[in-house]
Amino acid sequence: MTTLALDPAEASFQRAQTRSAELDTEIARSPERFRVLTGDRPTGPLHLGHLFGTLANRVRLQDAGVEVLVLVADYQVIADRDDLGDLPGAVTGLLLDQLAAGLDPDRTTFFRHSAVPALNQLMLPFLSLVTVAELQRNPTVKAEAEAAGARPLSGLLLTYPVHQAADILFCGGNLVPVGRDQLPHLELTRTIARRFNQRYGQLFPEPEALLSQAPLLLGTDGTKMSKSRGNTLALRDDEDRTAALIRGATTDAERTISYQPDRRPEVSNLVLLGALCRGESPESFADSIGGRGAAALKAAVTEAVNEHLRPLRRRRAELTADPGAVREVLALGNARANELAEATLDRVRVAMQMS
Ligand code: ATP
Ligand code: MG
Repeated sequence: MTTLALDPAEASFQRAQTRSAELDTEIARSPERFRVLTGDRPTGPLHLGHLFGTLANRVRLQDAGVEVLVLVADYQVIADRDDLGDLPGAVTGLLLDQLAAGLDPDRTTFFRHSAVPALNQLMLPFLSLVTVAELQRNPTVKAEAEAAGARPLSGLLLTYPVHQAADILFCGGNLVPVGRDQLPHLELTRTIARRFNQRYGQLFPEPEALLSQAPLLLGTDGTKMSKSRGNTLALRDDEDRTAALIRGATTDAERTISYQPDRRPEVSNLVLLGALCRGESPESFADSIGGRGAAALKAAVTEAVNEHLRPLRRRRAELTADPGAVREVLALGNARANELAEATLDRVRVAMQMS
């Protein structure tokens, strides 16, 4: 009898899921052993994929006593587009989304790429530790290049995972709460840390991914929910817009609602969304709809999403009234990130006999 070999991406995803469960136990036991680095590109409003893929984990880790640093990846906006758009507005919006979700600036450090030069300088030695072939093989870079359409792959998009290694390693981050699309990038960060340590002496940890229960939430069109794909349910949307978007989501022709992600990805994604918002299992949420069909499923998911987001949306409206406070949060965080980055760069220069 032959057994079907699991494809490498699926195998690494399964390993990351098993490891995430172990990490949760270790975090509960000794939160002080971990430092979290995570972040987002200021390319648009945060959505439910962010909330359930990483943001809820950020808040949970912060509340468990883990040190959390959150990057606004502003240099990476231009990896796959020529236009920065309304960057100041996008940065403020990104911070408001996260503060409204429960990240507390007294405990969590927010900073941006462009304000931390020493972080970006780490790119230089790190670029020497990877080959172009390794970068070209990265499945997430390939998918993002394809999503950008006819646009040729930029050098910045190709080297995005190396920049991300600098983001994580500059502060000695060893835990990264991410969605599934980030696993190949994190693997490269581990490779860079290992190669640096072998060549110049032990300096960096090998960070690990922490996956959530929703490592790949789909958008209303059935592909990965992404800011740049126009298929998102944004945290900051109002209830009517959320309802309209869910009404328009892709489903299938089967009347009985079930949770079968492989066979019925779109319906199962809606089921998962409703279940996560209600804090119940996808199976029991699917059973509660039963044979009432896609329209009833969509109505129940809309109610669950809007109810779950109500407190976040209320807090966001309050925070929006004080834009000065958001600027202050970023200024304080940038200062702290600069301290950490300069100390790391000094150690890198010493290790490389450049000082
Ligand atoms: P863009 O389209 O600009 O790349 P995005 O929606 O993919 O935006 P990112 O800023 O690239 O968002 O991702 C930020 C974090 O959110 C990453 O950790 C990523 O894995 C996670 N994430 C993004 N989309 C999803 C999703 N649909 N499901 C689960 N996690 C997600
Ligand atoms: Mg992305």
